[in-house]
Amino acid sequence: MSTRDEAAGKLEPIRLTGIAAAEGVAVGPVFAHVPGELKPGREHILEGAVEAEMERFRRAVEVVAGQLSEVGERLGESGSGEEAAIFEAHAEIAGDPELESGVEERVRNLQSPEAAVLAVGEEYADVFAAMEDEYMAARADDVRDVTGQIAVEIMGREVAGLEVLETPSVVLARSLAPSDTARIPRGMALGFVTAEGSRTSHVSIMARSMDIPAVVGVGAALDGVLEARFVAVDGTEGYAVADPGPEILAEFESKKEGITAERAALEEFKHVEARTRDGRRIEVSANLGSAGEAEGALAWGAEGVGLFRSEFLFMERAKLPTEDEQYEVYREVAVTFGERPVIIRTLDVGGDKSLPGVDQGEEENPFLGWRGIRMSLDTPELFEPQLRAILRAAAHGNLKVMFPMVSDVGELRAAKEVLARCRERLEGDGVEVGVVDAGVMIETPAAAICAAELAREAAFFSIGTNDLVQYTMAADRGNERLRHLRGADHPAVLKLIGEACGAAREAGIWVGVCGEAAGDPALIPTLIELGVTELSMGASAIPRAKKILSEL
Ligand code: PEP
Ligand code: MG
Repeated sequence: MSTRDEAAGKLEPIRLTGIAAAEGVAVGPVFAHVPGELKPGREHILEGAVEAEMERFRRAVEVVAGQLSEVGERLGESGSGEEAAIFEAHAEIAGDPELESGVEERVRNLQSPEAAVLAVGEEYADVFAAMEDEYMAARADDVRDVTGQIAVEIMGREVAGLEVLETPSVVLARSLAPSDTARIPRGMALGFVTAEGSRTSHVSIMARSMDIPAVVGVGAALDGVLEARFVAVDGTEGYAVADPGPEILAEFESKKEGITAERAALEEFKHVEARTRDGRRIEVSANLGSAGEAEGALAWGAEGVGLFRSEFLFMERAKLPTEDEQYEVYREVAVTFGERPVIIRTLDVGGDKSLPGVDQGEEENPFLGWRGIRMSLDTPELFEPQLRAILRAAAHGNLKVMFPMVSDVGELRAAKEVLARCRERLEGDGVEVGVVDAGVMIETPAAAICAAELAREAAFFSIGTNDLVQYTMAADRGNERLRHLRGADHPAVLKLIGEACGAAREAGIWVGVCGEAAGDPALIPTLIELGVTELSMGASAIPRAKKILSEL
């Protein structure tokens, strides 16, 4: 009997509220994963031992990087591309030359290599944690995870991890690193509840790709339930209940039945070609952030990729990807999708997304600043290799390119000129390239209002409702207080969408939607009514969207 049990006599349910990180519900026994703080075995070393101690550090790095790459390869082979990428990125952190030079400096001052690697790891983690960008801040945990593993390897200690999990359980933890989740034996994690984390932290990404319900960011309240026996997790709504009574258990049972029934009912819609009852064909595609998600998207019934957010490829790495590295990724997606269209959006950083290695400068209003195509046109050293990679990869599939944040037809013309120049040079060098249609994202009011001009020069439009709403309503998309102003169904927004659709129709080009509104059951009928013929969304929303379309 736990102390909480004894003290309370009768258990009262405790509700924890957090961020809905991976949808679904789960109920199960608690497995609290609260490892003690990692402390170095020795703080100092003897004079004259520097070289030998640095050698121990290098050996430990080799072992850890090797293990991480091995796990990455194994995951890659089993089709878990996104998780594989995380381990590969961790292997890169382990082998980072700056990490080594930071450790060496401290070891030369006679600090032990285990203390040095933990200290340097902490310094790096603090830099990441202080970044405003949520995604980059979440990378602090990755650095701590890797440097912790190196320290443990130097000390030759085994740390009990989640590999000891023998009964299917809900894992409660302050934070979960990829190395933690990867150690869980298959089928043993029913759900995750963590004190820290955001929707873009790795525990959330991995929970979604493993289809395990997760609630993250519940804060210090987690400490109060570590001794609970059972916990119920609702990853769709973003809460968990520790020691749920019979009433809550019954409620979760019926939620579970509802989800199972909904998934089963949608199964038959996964692979249908969506057509409205009056015969209009609507293409339903997936939004991807990495090549590893491509196979999964096809299984959900994606008919193409309506938005490949290429910036994630840049953000996930310590260094900017080369033209060849980009080519490999775009080619992989193109080959996976075969004849189906894959739209690569060129780099869309700025606003809330920053890029290591690119000086964004100080901006008073980053969302109104050097974003998307504006930045690409100013940095040919980033833009040209990306376009070359897309052109080369297009020889292997049906690739299209799309420019983000366009607000003036001059930007589209300039971008197309760069694309044409890249094509000419590649062809001149005898490099094989494919046909690449160039489209425009409609996500600024200016683009929607000047849609007729843009439509004369673009091969297609894709409406980015996330940004179109924020700019039309003058309501920051990340500001929770302005939630009431963020509906894409506001008449002002619909008017602009209608404007873009009208201009597209007139010019004979197609128009899609790739913002969150595309997968919103309540908005789909309106978007189709306005003239949209393609919807692109998170892959798991595809069957539901196809069902709605078939019933229109
Ligand atoms: C959008 O703005 O709707 C969009 C799809 O782009 P992102 O969410 O990546 O800004
Ligand atoms: Mg956008």
